[in-house]
Amino acid sequence: MPNLSFVHPSPDSPWGTYLSQVDRVVPYLGHLARWEETLRRPKRTLIVDVPIEMDDGSVAHFEGYRVQHSLTRGPGKGGVRYHPDVTLEEVMALAAWMTVKCAAVNLPYGGAKGGIRVEPRNLSMKELERLTRRYTSEIGLIIGPDKDIPAPDVNTNAQIMAWMMDTYSMNVGSTATGVVTGKPIPLGGSLGRVKATGRGVFVVGREAARRVGINLDGARVAVQGFGNVGSSAAELFTGAGAKIVAVQDHTGTVYNPKGLDMAGLMSELHGHGGIGGFKGGDKIKPEEFWDVENEFLIPAALEGQLNTERAKRVRTRVVLEGANGPTIPDGDLVLGERGILVVPDVIANAGGVTVSYFEWVQDFSSFFWTEDEINVRLDRIMIEAFKRIWETADQHRIPLRTAAFVVACTRVLQAREERGLYP
Ligand code: NAD
Repeated sequence: MPNLSFVHPSPDSPWGTYLSQVDRVVPYLGHLARWEETLRRPKRTLIVDVPIEMDDGSVAHFEGYRVQHSLTRGPGKGGVRYHPDVTLEEVMALAAWMTVKCAAVNLPYGGAKGGIRVEPRNLSMKELERLTRRYTSEIGLIIGPDKDIPAPDVNTNAQIMAWMMDTYSMNVGSTATGVVTGKPIPLGGSLGRVKATGRGVFVVGREAARRVGINLDGARVAVQGFGNVGSSAAELFTGAGAKIVAVQDHTGTVYNPKGLDMAGLMSELHGHGGIGGFKGGDKIKPEEFWDVENEFLIPAALEGQLNTERAKRVRTRVVLEGANGPTIPDGDLVLGERGILVVPDVIANAGGVTVSYFEWVQDFSSFFWTEDEINVRLDRIMIEAFKRIWETADQHRIPLRTAAFVVACTRVLQAREERGLYP
């Protein structure tokens, strides 16, 4: 464990998980391993107090963070999460995974992430807006279109990005659309962004299926988390002939070995905020989700879901990590020993940041692409990145996660070496 005085990670925590992943890549870095410590330390961490006036006239304080893990290959890039359990340590891990993800798909970005410890469901829209604007002003010191570009993550959306863009623009005195991505389309957002992460999950899933000999037509898929990522990926798998046999979200778990009706699930989600009450399948206990037999298991909710015990039980051939950090390091080892292919988060869910990159490029040029152009470019980047990582895994006989880290960390540390150490 590195000597950072301000975090004390357990091995299964997000930062502890990230550090173990770095341990596994070091033997493959060759002479670049002399820079490995830069991977284990965020370049910059900012903790801000976010005081707001509540609708009842009281004042509430929230803790906010922005972490820039690496700016070596370009500006920081990474979402902002609103959740009561967000910690500095979690944001550090999410920022570091952004460094690896952007380098794995070869986008010209470093890695960053932000968050506020808040339960947004307890705030009114006006309170949420004040919280977002004050947070944006506080982190305004270090963000900007060529410095660090936030985006949506869990519990943040296009409206929150619009408030962030407006607040930053007011503070600098000109409209700066490129300061955030994931914006509404009329404010410089990109077509295809909303479904981009789910689309990327599907595209790399299809590539993996081809290599391990799974026919998508009739393949069984289980999805944990039916939000932006999980529902978009499920729609595309269904479109390719696969069956969604189990879905779990925070409201419940439903199972149907013949396949759950996608349109019915979507209308349940939109009507009730979750799929727990869906009638087109059997309601099962949350823990039973991990026993459902399938070809593709897609964790698309939270970190730390595939622990050792669940990794021993799951009956799947491919784990496609839609969420960030859903598999703990020991779970990874068990899945590998059982011959289950894990397509890691840093490539599987990179579709979102790839279209965010397209959005940022379009904002700079004020010239916007069609959805078809976006999807063709997205598919090409995902397929090329997956191929490179697959070949690296083959060459060294290592898991795809370590291979993705080899490709990404080599790019980051190569850039570090070529830039040299200031001063
Ligand atoms: P979201 O808020 O749209 O959806 C989250 C889903 O997880 C919801 O269906 C929710 O009900 C479910 N969930 C929450 N707690 C749960 C629990 N305890 N058990 C089961 N399900 C639970 O979020 P999202 O944008 O879809 O993000 C999901 C994951 O994907 C996160 O790890 C996020 O960091 C990652 N990710 C998102 C994007 C993106 O573009 N949105 C990009 C890359 C990675």
